[in-house]
Amino acid sequence: MKRRILLLLLAGITAMAPITVHASDAFEGWNDTTKMDAWDVLAVTEWANVQDRLILDQNTAGAEANVTDAVRAFEDEIREAMEADSSILVVNDAQVELMLAMLQVLGGTNPSASDPYQIRVWFDPDLEETTCRQSINYVLRRLTRAFKQHTNDPYASYSKNDAALQSVVQGVMYGSAYTRTYAEYSLDNSVEYYEANQETFERKEIAPMKDFAERVAELFTTSSISGNGRFTYPCPEATITSRFGSRTDPINGGADTHKGIDLAANTGTPVYAADAGTVTTAGYSTSAGNWIVINHGDGFVTKYMHLSSINVNEGDEVRKVQKIGGVGSTGNSTGPHLHFQVELNGTPVNPENYL
Ligand SMILES: [Zn+2]
Repeated sequence: MKRRILLLLLAGITAMAPITVHASDAFEGWNDTTKMDAWDVLAVTEWANVQDRLILDQNTAGAEANVTDAVRAFEDEIREAMEADSSILVVNDAQVELMLAMLQVLGGTNPSASDPYQIRVWFDPDLEETTCRQSINYVLRRLTRAFKQHTNDPYASYSKNDAALQSVVQGVMYGSAYTRTYAEYSLDNSVEYYEANQETFERKEIAPMKDFAERVAELFTTSSISGNGRFTYPCPEATITSRFGSRTDPINGGADTHKGIDLAANTGTPVYAADAGTVTTAGYSTSAGNWIVINHGDGFVTKYMHLSSINVNEGDEVRKVQKIGGVGSTGNSTGPHLHFQVELNGTPVNPENYL
């Protein structure tokens, strides 16, 4: 893995040398094909490196965007659009996932088939009637441009939730001026930029989202691998407060065998399916509170207890890292946490050996 990162870095430095930044606002010129063409040529080499890095991070994290089925239905169309315009894009899964997340934020959870990204609303009211393909291409070009404009260590890790990628994604919403002004994306920067340019946005009747990058990032999950990686962490933002095995019962003080691990996090923190499977329980019990059980096949079952909310129903097929509920303190619980349990052939096993 280390060698691959080094190779990527070297490739990046080599590719970076001959590239100069042209007309800084070419990106704004959707109707100006000359500017866009000039940009496309410059982008190709560097873009390929960014693509590689996205693949690398995607493989490390093993996560996909948690978008609705209606949005995921556009997966093939996005892939097709990327393949059709090879001057801009190298197709990979990470890029498709990023596009899906942006589609959901831009077009909503039930996007229209004619123009799912609604680019006329968000970016340019002067555009004529747009098609799905034009819309996707437009966002892809903006994303390419934003990557290029993000000059602060452009080959830093582009993991899904880090500041560099968020800066790039936010640049899609604001165009090149934003990423030129702020090397690092932050909520403060975003709000400041939005407020400074609000008059222009209103005059042009476009409506950028000042929290676009955060909303896109929310649709991804990060996961860390510690055991054999059979399952992904169901609540990556949490900290482990109680491990598997013998312990003192937190409720009655007696001896107890803890059948899972406790992951403490604020109420409402997203809980994700540790792997794809079928929901066999989604309900309430006095001890487990709101809880979910997922059968993954091969004798593996995972259980999620004390939830504040449940987003799935019994019988649902869930994807790995699909959001299934929120952390809570229902049932026998002393504070907001997720009790996560893994069973193999009906016997609880240490989840940490499988994460
Ligand atoms: Zn527990």
